[in-house]
Amino acid sequence: MSTLAGERATVVVIGAGHAGLTASHFLSARSVDHVVLERGEVANSWRRERWDSLRLLTPSWQSRLPGLRYDGPDPDGYMTVPEVTEFIERFAKISRAPVRTGEDVTSVRRDGDGYHVTTRDGAVLGCRAVVIATGACNRPTVPSLAAAVPASVRQLTPFDYRDPAGLPDGGVLVVGASATGVQLAAEIQRSGRPVTLSTGEHVRLPRTYRGRDVLWWMDASGVWDQRYDEIDDLNRARRLPSPQLAGVPHTTLDLNALSSTGVELVGRLASIRDGSALFSGGLRNVFSLADLKMNRLLGTFDEWARTQGAEVAPPERYEPTRAPDNARLQLDLRSGEIAAIVWATGFRPDYQWLDVPVVDAKGQLSHDGGVVDSPGLYALGLPVLRRRKSTFIYGIEDDAREVIDHLARHLAVRD
Ligand SMILES: Cc1cc2nc3c(=O)[nH]c(=O)nc-3n(C[C@H](O)[C@H](O)[C@H](O)COP(=O)(O)OP(=O)(O)OC[C@H]3O[C@@H](n4cnc5c(N)ncnc54)[C@H](O)[C@@H]3O)c2cc1C
Repeated sequence: MSTLAGERATVVVIGAGHAGLTASHFLSARSVDHVVLERGEVANSWRRERWDSLRLLTPSWQSRLPGLRYDGPDPDGYMTVPEVTEFIERFAKISRAPVRTGEDVTSVRRDGDGYHVTTRDGAVLGCRAVVIATGACNRPTVPSLAAAVPASVRQLTPFDYRDPAGLPDGGVLVVGASATGVQLAAEIQRSGRPVTLSTGEHVRLPRTYRGRDVLWWMDASGVWDQRYDEIDDLNRARRLPSPQLAGVPHTTLDLNALSSTGVELVGRLASIRDGSALFSGGLRNVFSLADLKMNRLLGTFDEWARTQGAEVAPPERYEPTRAPDNARLQLDLRSGEIAAIVWATGFRPDYQWLDVPVVDAKGQLSHDGGVVDSPGLYALGLPVLRRRKSTFIYGIEDDAREVIDHLARHLAVRD
């Protein structure tokens, strides 16, 4: 039974991931009375929604939250999921966040100049402002054509997948070649199951460039600090797939690396007809575009290094992505060749509980830098919320400070 019934708080933060906890940190710094409601435990998505072998793709020195930095033995390594969970738990303790766990928010509705927040067991909490920090990846995105997959083929999302041992024996079709897809394709191929990887638009990056982690370059050259209001096509930037990176030191996990281990590359999954998966052609064009964009980004890094006189190794360029001579356009899913499909086709937020008309037809929250189009309603942790780094652990501090500044001004106006 909830202990919340009849309570009031000036601000309710929903979600105790790193975003909600950082919001709490800045609210406490301003002595704003608040509560953080979490349906599971602190760092719940890291506990429940990640596969076993996952490591952060951001280097450990980039794991920092206000007043807490990675202080382990390997700052250039990549944290495991238990390490990330522990890091976020530590932050919750240090910042003394007023977290109430096991409180699943099922409704937020406007009430006068504030909000009513209702939890699954019926407790209603009144407040003047709400911070939505429920994450950008609550549900795996699975295309509707999945319904046409023959019943003999097992279908999994990254939320169901734990390790290759949980897959049936036989071939695996991984759909999607962003960070999740390339990592799972590599691991499943290593387990001895033949992998076919369906590849649409993707972001290619080397793990290390000119002797430094590529994410060091993103940080140092200011790419990650680029603000949302300086980006020409913000909608596109917010939909950009995650880069082909894995948390393995000095190891690039691009399509060349995968095809050298035997992963078969095919085009974008266009449809499933009569039990056959049909893939788009034109892989060469898709690959050239990704290579071109990567080289453009490396050129930005080079220019930054030149103007700053940075002490780094000489510029590098990489072999273009090799397209297979005859990429298959069709794969019979009834033949037994494919035993399982892993949908690595992205994630999306879930706002079914939000009874305020601020979610668009595509299920995305309408907001301007985290200021939602309903007074007193705020969001954190969404792609390019205020900067390119917004969804990363390391990116939350600047966003949260600014969003909570806005929230404090909102409260002050009505005091
Ligand atoms: C596969 C994967 C790999 C990633 N790798 C990296 C990486 O290498 N480096 C990096 O910096 N970032 C990485 N990220 C991005 C990001 O750090 C994580 O997605 C992170 O979990 C987002 O933090 P958050 O606080 O915004 O959301 P979450 O951690 O998802 O926290 C949201 C919280 O809200 C709770 N919640 C949701 N709905 C409700 C509700 N209705 N009521 C109450 N509580 C609710 C959830 O239980 C959860 O605890 C990765 C993300 C994914 C999916």
